[in-house]
Amino acid sequence: MDHDRHLRIAVEEAERALAEGASPFGAVIVGPDGSILSRGRNQVLSGGDQTAHAEVDAIRAGGAAIARPPAGGGWTLYASGEPCLMCLGAILLCPIDTLVWAAGSRVASAYATILTGAYRADRVGALRVVTEPVSALRDRCHALIDAFERGARHVP
Ligand SMILES: [Zn+2]
Repeated sequence: MDHDRHLRIAVEEAERALAEGASPFGAVIVGPDGSILSRGRNQVLSGGDQTAHAEVDAIRAGGAAIARPPAGGGWTLYASGEPCLMCLGAILLCPIDTLVWAAGSRVASAYATILTGAYRADRVGALRVVTEPVSALRDRCHALIDAFERGARHVP
């Protein structure tokens, strides 16, 4: 795989994001033959969407095609910057089997988070979390998930 070529595309998307007034992050998803499935760029400010990070934007732009890994290997996501925890989670939910980034993160390293558990510790400590306060609704949600997992569309 031509890392230099594809990282350059991700960086071009980052430059495009900056030109639009957004944070300078870009991403591109590539098949094993080097064909481009989709591109993405940060649109948090320009799009008014707090989840519109470059990696998530590229995954969204890939649409339904991303669910069908190409013959000869899976998808590779190239990112201009090391993905944050949200984007790493999205990547792990997709059939993306290779992740490459141009520059490590100085503020939101998902890998450092996994290793140290220190991702935005100030926010985690301040967040009020209420888990399963209504048992009947918990059971109803479990029943929905069970029904989905028994269905034909479920892929474990
Ligand atoms: Zn992110």
